[in-house]
Amino acid sequence: MNIILLGPPGAGKGTQSDYLRDTFKLTKLATGDMLRAAVKAGTELGRQADAVMKAGKLVSDDIMIGIIRDAIKHAPGGFILDGFPRTTGQARALDAMLEEEGKKLDFVIELAVDDAALVERIAGRFSCKSCGAGYHDTFRQPVVAGVCDACGSTEFVRREDDKAETVARRLEAYHEMTAPLLPYYQSHGTLQTIDGMADIAEVTAALNRLITNGASDRS
Ligand code: AMP
Repeated sequence: MNIILLGPPGAGKGTQSDYLRDTFKLTKLATGDMLRAAVKAGTELGRQADAVMKAGKLVSDDIMIGIIRDAIKHAPGGFILDGFPRTTGQARALDAMLEEEGKKLDFVIELAVDDAALVERIAGRFSCKSCGAGYHDTFRQPVVAGVCDACGSTEFVRREDDKAETVARRLEAYHEMTAPLLPYYQSHGTLQTIDGMADIAEVTAALNRLITNGASDRS
């Protein structure tokens, strides 16, 4: 099963794609995570992406398509894309790659969230330094304060591009470059929308219903 999660920064794509990965045994391909790993490792890709990410802009289509081309080849059981595609150029390239590989998209799901809620959501985010599990000051604290639920680490980090001034630029990039993907997938008949303003657990339940019903409709 192959899934794309669409939505602006802060919509909950990361949290929900972790759930989908674990529940449906999919490979999660989160391009933002891949780029941050490359920055941390000091690779050539990381060097190129670092300044662009800090500015809240998008990394070039060529670079991103190259990363995903490799990754979707190594996704046994299917993939969930979080953060890709982000432009219509990337979406077209993905269609071509999937055709070459004899694969298809089973679900393209938009998490719809009001812009006004996003800044608060993003400003409160933090994650485990060791395993990357995501948390939030208001919506999702670790069960034991200061200790990661998933791995027990006590070190947490906040993303540099989650600062208020960068978030505004990331939202601009979303509306200008990524929102046109909604009509793109709508015209292909694959887009489905979920209310991303609901609680995390409610969004998860809605995703689960959509995928389970959709999968049985197809069988
Ligand atoms: P994310 O973690 O998905 O919010 O991505 C963080 C940053 O990585 C974005 O603001 C972009 O600078 C860059 N990025 C991630 N995925 C893409 C993509 N598909 N195309 C272009 N830039 C991307």
